[in-house]
Amino acid sequence: MAKPKVAFYWCASCGGCEETVVDLNEDLLKVADAVDIVLWPVALDFKRKDVEALASGEIAVSFINGAIRLEEQEEMVKLLREKSGLVVAFGSCAHLGGIPGLANFWDRDTIFQRVYKEAPTVENPEGMTPQLKTAVDVGELTLPEFYDTVKTLDQTIPVDYYLPGCPPPPDLILNAVTAILKGELPEKGAVLAPDKALCDTCPRKDSKPEKLSIKEIKRPWEIKIDPEKCFLDQGIICVGPATRSGCGETCIRANMPCRGCFGPVGGVADQGARALSMIASILGIEEEDKMTEEDVKRLIDGIADPAGTFYRFSLPASLLRRKRM
Ligand code: SF4
Ligand code: SF4
Repeated sequence: MAKPKVAFYWCASCGGCEETVVDLNEDLLKVADAVDIVLWPVALDFKRKDVEALASGEIAVSFINGAIRLEEQEEMVKLLREKSGLVVAFGSCAHLGGIPGLANFWDRDTIFQRVYKEAPTVENPEGMTPQLKTAVDVGELTLPEFYDTVKTLDQTIPVDYYLPGCPPPPDLILNAVTAILKGELPEKGAVLAPDKALCDTCPRKDSKPEKLSIKEIKRPWEIKIDPEKCFLDQGIICVGPATRSGCGETCIRANMPCRGCFGPVGGVADQGARALSMIASILGIEEEDKMTEEDVKRLIDGIADPAGTFYRFSLPASLLRRKRM
């Protein structure tokens, strides 16, 4: 019997999601044995024309990581959508926009200005920026269009399932692949991770006070962090209360607070707004009636990078989506 065809593709991403597939270790061999990989640019030499030659729906499942930043990425994911029975948004960038999505605080012109003209390491006396077409002796060179706005995968094509995380952990990947191969999938649109908040599985949850109050916000490097105690109770922002579990609490176990890469739990439209309102509700709460304007300002100023803290992985998927330029 023919094996199911599987494709892996990456768009605007760092490559970490590709690494995590390799982190399946010997389980990768089992997966590779059970499926017929028809596209995996980071590891195997297939071309776009190989995908174009496949019949519509011939690929059983495409795992697509990375956000959509370039015209070429949009073309490829539309091609994969047409050729695939299932499409899985693989990792935070495809799921929510991820770290590349923070570029939505700027636009193409401001990014090009900084990257190609102003950055201290740049030597570009003619002020050249990438051009869509460039005439050369042998013809014309082209580049894909660089869009103003980074999009999530499901803002570009219909997505069947989401594997969250930066990157998704190997156990969730293996569960998803196994479920797909056995045809035991949840309803379409599901996030393939537990639908409860990280605080529910956090090894520090018993130290999280019933009533939290932060009187001063600290950054992780400013204090000696107690490795047993809830970060919020130490004045360190942790977005675990606004984040889906399933990651294995990797950061917490490495004594770093959660930054939200698994996205929100079901039913939450805007993870950043949820995290922001959670933090706002516990700032100086015990002395609320005695708080002065200066106290409020001092507390808010303690959050070094509010947008990057609350929307680190989810700006393109948020209600804001991007900064209006
Ligand atoms: S706020 Fe962070 S450290 Fe505290 S219980 Fe939740 S996930 Fe754990
Ligand atoms: S603790 Fe938070 S940021 Fe770290 S891997 Fe888990 S969900 Fe992602």
